[in-house]
Amino acid sequence: MSIDPELDAALTRFAAAPARVIALDFDGVLAPIVPRPEDAAPLPEVRAALERLAQDPAVHLGLVSGRALGDPALRRAAPPSTAIIGSHGAEPGFVQDDGHLAAGPPVLQEDQRALLQRLRERAEELCAPVSGSWVEEKPTAVVVHTRPVPDDDDAAALERAALEELGALSGVRAIAGKRVVELSVAHATKGDAVTLLRTGFPTRELADDTPVMYIGDDVTDEDALGSLGPADIGIKVGDGETTATYRVPDPVAVGQILARLADLRGV
Ligand SMILES: [Mg+2]
Repeated sequence: MSIDPELDAALTRFAAAPARVIALDFDGVLAPIVPRPEDAAPLPEVRAALERLAQDPAVHLGLVSGRALGDPALRRAAPPSTAIIGSHGAEPGFVQDDGHLAAGPPVLQEDQRALLQRLRERAEELCAPVSGSWVEEKPTAVVVHTRPVPDDDDAAALERAALEELGALSGVRAIAGKRVVELSVAHATKGDAVTLLRTGFPTRELADDTPVMYIGDDVTDEDALGSLGPADIGIKVGDGETTATYRVPDPVAVGQILARLADLRGV
C-alpha cells in the first residue's frame, strides 16, 4: 500500500518546518490490539522508524496513551528522548537519554484518592459475578475490562452498569472504549497531552507555530485530534467517526508514514 498523495504532500510540508511534534497513541496505532494488553508490542517496522526519528533533534516524539505512565509496553515502544504522556494526559513523563523514565507522580487531592478507592471496591463488586472480566488499577483511574468475557450480552451489561453507576458519581469521568470502561478521577484528556507536547515538554521551548502530527484510533483520541489546527496533521487509524483529516487502515500504514517522515528528514 502506498501513502495517499494528499497525505504525502502534507507530510512533505510537515518535514520542511523548522521543528515538529509527532504525538502517537500506542494501542491500535503503533501496536496491533491484542487480547491481553500486557502482550501489546509495536510492529518492528514502527519501532525502527521511531528509532530513526528519535535521532533527529528537530523531531519531538511523544506517546499519548490511556495506559499508566509506567506501563512496560509503553517503555518498550519509546526510544530515548521520547515523552510519554500516560493516563490520557494525567501522567506526563520523559524517557531520558540513558533510558531512565523521569516522571512526576500524578497529583491527586485527598477527596480524589478516596473516590478512587471507592471506585476500585465497587468495580470489583460489579465484576465479581461476570467471568472473564477484570479490574485494572491505575494511578488516577480504574478500568473495567470485558474483552475476555465469553458472552457479548454479559460484557455489554457490565459495561453499561459501570458507566451508569460509577460514571455518574460526582468527580468521575467515564470513558467507554473498545471493551473497556475507564473511570478516572483526574480530568486531563489527550487534548491536554497535545497542548503539553506542543510547548516542547519537558526540556525544550518550541515556537508557537510548531506543527503537530497526531495519530490515534479510539474515541479518546478525538480530544487530541479535535485540538489540531490547519497546519497540523490529524490521522485516524481504522473505522469510526473522527475529526481527523486523514485516515489509514492499520498500524502497518502508520509504520509507512513514520518511515516516510524519517526519509524526508534524512535520518
Ligand atoms: Mg488506541
